[in-house]
Amino acid sequence: MPHFQVNDRCNGCLACVQNCPASALESVDRGEKRTILHNMARCARCGSCWRICPQDAVEFKHLLESDWDEVATLNLVRCKVCGETLYTKDFGEVLSEKLDTKVDSLCPRHREELSRLASVYFFPGKSRMKMGEKR
Ligand code: SF4
Ligand code: SF4
Repeated sequence: MPHFQVNDRCNGCLACVQNCPASALESVDRGEKRTILHNMARCARCGSCWRICPQDAVEFKHLLESDWDEVATLNLVRCKVCGETLYTKDFGEVLSEKLDTKVDSLCPRHREELSRLASVYFFPGKSRMKMGEKR
């Protein structure tokens, strides 16, 4: 949704364009149409356009909104045990490529749990020794 909006009372008189102190408004006439353009990077949010508009057409409140614009939406990889968010799928692929190995989709807690279980099942003697048990 653009921050600068006019309602349907706008008749294209160009008073706002001609009086914008920041050159943030322009108009383009193409064929049978006139288009009003607004550049948010230039806009000082001064309200001059809103004050000068004879039609009361500038919806200035939209210029004062402090919204977040979505710039990208990416697929997430979650821990396959608990569902905790880990990283994006694309970032995981970059990691796998750089590390030349498939990155496991496990959170640190479940990765640790898995390696503990693996050591108990596959190297039972070693794990007992680690825990300080005598043979
Ligand atoms: S001053 Fe108002 S009516 Fe005139 S072009 Fe601007 S918004 Fe439209
Ligand atoms: S708020 Fe001010 S700077 Fe922004 S478009 Fe209106 S007149 Fe121009």
